[in-house]
Parts: sequence; structure tokens; C-alpha cells
Amino acid sequence: MVHGLKKINKEAFDILVILSKLAHKKGARLYLIGGSVRDIILGTNSNIDLDIVVEDDAISFAEHAASHFKCEIKKHETFRTATVFVPNHKVDFATARNEEYKKPGALPTVSVSHLKDDMARRDFTINTMAVDLNEKTFGELIDICGGQKDLKSKVLRALHDASFTDDATRILRGIRFENRFGFKFESHTLKLAKDAIKKRALLNIHPHRLYDEMKLILDEPDPVKCLKRVDDICGFDFLSNEIKFDKDDVLLLRRIAKVLKTYRAKILDKRKITEWLVYFSVLTYKLPKRTLSSMLKLYGFKKGEELILLSINKHLKAMAKLKKLSTPSKIFKILDLFSYEAILFFLAYYYEDKNIAGNIQLFLEELSGIKVMVRGSDLIRLNIVPVRIYGKLLEALLYAKIDKRLKDKSAEISEIMKIYKKLGIQ
Ligand code: ATP
Repeated sequence: MVHGLKKINKEAFDILVILSKLAHKKGARLYLIGGSVRDIILGTNSNIDLDIVVEDDAISFAEHAASHFKCEIKKHETFRTATVFVPNHKVDFATARNEEYKKPGALPTVSVSHLKDDMARRDFTINTMAVDLNEKTFGELIDICGGQKDLKSKVLRALHDASFTDDATRILRGIRFENRFGFKFESHTLKLAKDAIKKRALLNIHPHRLYDEMKLILDEPDPVKCLKRVDDICGFDFLSNEIKFDKDDVLLLRRIAKVLKTYRAKILDKRKITEWLVYFSVLTYKLPKRTLSSMLKLYGFKKGEELILLSINKHLKAMAKLKKLSTPSKIFKILDLFSYEAILFFLAYYYEDKNIAGNIQLFLEELSGIKVMVRGSDLIRLNIVPVRIYGKLLEALLYAKIDKRLKDKSAEISEIMKIYKKLGIQ
């Protein structure tokens, strides 16, 4: 019998041994399953999350495990699942279940069942494998769908012909796995996927699930390749039939990848960039504003994401004015209004225009990091009144500092006195 836990890390192995002992005492049957097993066999070790199927009530077993490890638990009563947060490892417990799709694309009707049924409800053979965690058979690999063979041959094989009409998000999941592991859809499976698309199976999926899948796709190591593949297999009608994705957009995606690589570490105030949104904008920057607004609402984009995508859509063309700006503070005033996601998209879009791209790069590499040293307390000490003009004064000082490259605080103080005098308030 193959030992399924050969390549697991020691910490995760120890957790599984403890769970196995707890299950033995409680008379529950446990199996590690799905992506966790796939990743252990592949030796990628990226998946420190452990998915466990319980042939018993998962919630009561998870409560038992949480009290043993003295850690937090989150229960989902409707799905009879629970997550236990063991230090460094998220352990998901699910009651073994059978799923029946009464309507294509809708969520399935679920009933409590056994391991074999739980395997049969999964997406691809490589995600069906389980490792037995029961005491006497601990570590044995259970592979009834040929997952190991497909893993070796690097293919994604659906479990049955109705798989993608039951749940078309599996096509998008498959594109992710192709990209992440360098796998390919097996030819019959690819045909099934394309047939399901022809039957408009993705349109049966709740938009919020499609949003989740798009986000995951764009978080994969090579989002450009993923989007090209989505275009090849599905097109983008499932998001909006007004999306026009062409060769220029592929070039734009490549430039985005390049720009993100350059600026990921360089963004001067170290704000985290939501990279997937920058890629996603390639699908939305040409859409009419009204179409985009209603699409973002329908798919459940967060408020902040919505603002970024709308600002790119609205202001992209106007960024052409960056071509002819005379002073750095003018560049600053325009770009400082935007998120880094929008600015990086603008840079990728205008990459070939030396003036515009140069000004955006100047903003990203220098101007955005300039801060004034003078504080409100300095202005009080200088007897500057009234206090209500401090905000304006400091803003004017920042622009002067950007243009004149004021070197130190004393240069800033003499500059602010000049600005104050000009206001003629004294
Ligand atoms: P990732 O590494 O991206 O998290 P994963 O395979 O671990 O991939 P999860 O979304 O965590 O994916 O799901 C865990 C397991 O649940 C999968 O390996 C698969 O067996 C099953 N699964 C998830 N989504 C589906 C689906 N839409 N249809 C069928 N099975 C699914």
C-alpha cells in the first residue's frame, strides 16, 4: 500500500497523528482529502491547510479537536463543516457527503454519506485522492479514481460527463490548476468543458461565485497566461457580453506583469497593491461606465475595488495630459488622487509614450515619497495664525518642496514664511 504522507512536513504529520488518535477514541473515521493530498504527493508543500473528511458529524469532532489543541474553531452549521485554527495550520473538517445537482449551476442538494461518495462529488481525479487517518490503516493512500496516474501524466480529468454542466466553476478551477502545475485538460475533458460553455453553463453560476473564481485565477503565478486561456476556452461573456478582449489587451497584460514586477518592492510608502485588480482592469477599461457600474454591483465587488476599477475606466484617457506638464508638482497633483493600482495600470497603458510613462515613473520613484518635515507645532512656534490655514500652508509647502527640492527643515521653514507672507494675512 502506498504511504500517502511520505512528503508531508513534520508539523502537519504530527497534527494528523493526534487527530487519528482522537478519532479512534471517539469511534469516528477520518480521511485527509482533496487538494491537501494532491499537494503532499506533488511535494509542493504550499498547502499547509488540511482538508479532512469525517464519516460522522464533522462539527462535533472538530469541537473535540479544538478543545484538545486549545485553539479557535469556526463552525458552519448549514454545511456541517468547521475550521480549527491549530497554530500554523488551518484544519477544515467536513462531514462526508453526497451531492446531487437538481439544476445545472445551482448549489447541490447535500446528504450525509461515506468517503466514496465524497470523492465522487469532486472536480478532477487529481483532487479526489484521500489518505486514511484511521489508526490501523494510517497513511494509506486511497485512490479509486486514478488520481495518482493523472498526477503523473499531468492531466486534469473530470469524473463524469455532466461535471461542468453541474458546476461550470470547475472549468475556471481547471484553468488555475493548468497554470499552477503546468498540467493540461485531458482531451475529452476539454471537449466537455467547451460543450458546457456552448450551453452557457457559466451563466447559471451565481455571480458572486464567479467573482471569487476570477480573483483566484488572477492570483495564480501567471495571470496573463490564465486570462488568455479563459479567453480561449470560455471567452468573457459570462462577465459581460460587452467585454472586447483582443491582441492589444494581451500586450497590455504583459506590460502590467512587467510594471508590477518592477514596482512591487519599490512603492515608496510600502502600501500593498491589490495586483489582481490591475489585471482585471484590462477587461473593464473599455466598457461603458454604466455597464461597468452594474457589472461590479452584480458580481459583488467590494466598495474599494469598485472605486479603483471605475477610476481607471473614467480617467485613463485624461492621463494623456501628463505628456505636457511643466513642473513636478503638477504631475504630483494629478496622480496623487489615484490608487497605486490605477497608477500602475496607467503606466502599463502608456508604456510606449516616453513622456507620459516618464512622468508616471517620476511620481512612483520620487515624488510620491516626498513628505514635508514642518509640522503644525512648528507653525505655532512661528506665530502663524489663524490655525485654520495650516492645512493649506502645508500643502503649498509640499508642492514647493517637490518643485524646488528643498533639502532640509530650515529650507522648508524659510519657504513656508515666504508662502505665508504672500498670503498677506499678517
Ligand atoms: P487550492 O490549492 O487552490 O486551494 P484546492 O484543490 O485545495 O485548491 P479548494 O477550493 O480548497 O481547492 O477545495 C478543496 C477540495 O474540494 C478540492 O481539492 C476538490 O476536491 C473539492 N472542490 C472544491 N471546489 C469544487 C467544485 N467546484 N466542484 C467539485 N469539487 C470541488
